[in-house]
Amino acid sequence: VSDLPQIRRKAERVSAAHVLAAFRGVGRRSLLAWLDAAGAHDMPVREAVRRLAKGEAALEAGRVALEGQLADPEGPAARAACAEGCAFCCILAGEDGGTMTEAEAVRLHASLSRLAGEPDGRVWHPRACPALDPETRTCRAYDARPSICRSYISPDAALCEDIAEGTPRPGPGVLGGHVLYLSVLALTRETLRGVAAVPTYSLARLAAAAVRDDSLEEALAASRHAPRELRDEIARHKKAMNG
Ligand code: SF4
Ligand code: SF4
Repeated sequence: VSDLPQIRRKAERVSAAHVLAAFRGVGRRSLLAWLDAAGAHDMPVREAVRRLAKGEAALEAGRVALEGQLADPEGPAARAACAEGCAFCCILAGEDGGTMTEAEAVRLHASLSRLAGEPDGRVWHPRACPALDPETRTCRAYDARPSICRSYISPDAALCEDIAEGTPRPGPGVLGGHVLYLSVLALTRETLRGVAAVPTYSLARLAAAAVRDDSLEEALAASRHAPRELRDEIARHKKAMNG
């Protein structure tokens, strides 16, 4: 690509059929707004591509949406049972633990690598996130926690405990801001197809690599997803939202 307007025209056209219909329009508008802001700041096209590939448009869209959803006095966040030290949601399902952008992966690595060698969440529970403090059960990388952790809520901690032990329960889940973030990320990937890769990373694998003191390059290599993982993650949310 030679300039930002060329990327913008592509972003206007990409189909991203796997993105949930309810999030496609707002996701595209968010991506276009990010590109317009980049243009207004005379951002060089190479810099814009580099930042998009790290997931910055997706993070910005998700952050703004989550801010509103978490502050809504009538919304599900106002009825959530979430409290400090209540960490059943940090017992991760499977080996993956959740999807992150590259910007989040880099931030989480920087936050956790200084704690390498200290007892981590797996002392408390074998499938707990390595970022968890096993004593206080609080996140040791709170400011660097990714979108999935910022958006997951539940009306009852007992439901989360059941889910952590493998019994499905309705109720806990992510706020819409996280699905918007995934949608903008998928639209970004389609827009940059043939220009730059837009990778995603596994939360559990990145955190494990960081606390065993892997370098950033090693940790990113150990946790990089196959391209289909973003599509699969969106499909899982689609299924959850459709009940
Ligand atoms: S999502 Fe569940 S386990 Fe996590 S803080 Fe909220 S109530 Fe507790
Ligand atoms: S990064 Fe922090 S909040 Fe997220 S799962 Fe790990 S310990 Fe929990």
